[in-house]
Amino acid sequence: CGIIGILGKHEVSPLLVDALKRLEYRGYDSAGVATVDASGQLDCRRAVGKLVNLSDRLVHQPLTGHAGIGHTRWATHGAATEVNAHPHRAGPVAVVHNGIIENFRELREGLTRLGIEAQSQTDTETVALWTAHHLQRGLSPLEAARATLAQLQGAFALAFIFEGEGDLMIAARRGSPLAIGHGDGEMFLGSDAVALAPFTDRITYLADGDHAVLTRAGVQVYEAGSQPVTRTQAQIDVGA
Ligand code: GLU
Repeated sequence: CGIIGILGKHEVSPLLVDALKRLEYRGYDSAGVATVDASGQLDCRRAVGKLVNLSDRLVHQPLTGHAGIGHTRWATHGAATEVNAHPHRAGPVAVVHNGIIENFRELREGLTRLGIEAQSQTDTETVALWTAHHLQRGLSPLEAARATLAQLQGAFALAFIFEGEGDLMIAARRGSPLAIGHGDGEMFLGSDAVALAPFTDRITYLADGDHAVLTRAGVQVYEAGSQPVTRTQAQIDVGA
């Protein structure tokens, strides 16, 4: 029910959890974070229940890295279990998602025909698995994300990070809102400006159907037909 993403200069996992706390008001049943560390390794930690459970998990099994995504989940497909919590990882990609992928059954059947089995009951995992499949057949992260987005029906906000790509995050929205936060040599992504308030007040809202490629140097937004587009950046003061 909440998304946060950071391409930062410091250890991001405590920052991700703090930002998720700012999204708690939306309600959630489980939470998780994924990071890409200095060696490019992608890893996730997830926990059912309150964010303190995720924090405890991170104390015992820390996650390092200056790039990462976080999620609070309000289950729509699959029970509130750790396996169903986000991020969903498939090979070299991790995905967080708010909303519903309406055609997830067809997507799952297509995966089954390829011999790819899902671990969870969620609609979201099909997004991760299809993206991993597109990467495996040689597409770049952006091409793979686009190929997956073209398969999706429903309403969603999505964020993707990739193993070996410590300076890349891909975001997409159809229906659900998503905001990009501009830092100085850092970039942020969040469900709303409230989540981003501790980091920056310079916000770009993605328009419906947009996807975006974020690096620490900046963001490129694309509209539904993958044409580059400029969305206005505004100063939004929600109070840090
Ligand atoms: N449909 C997804 C799930 O059940 C995402 C739910 C949400 O928006 O948190 O895992």
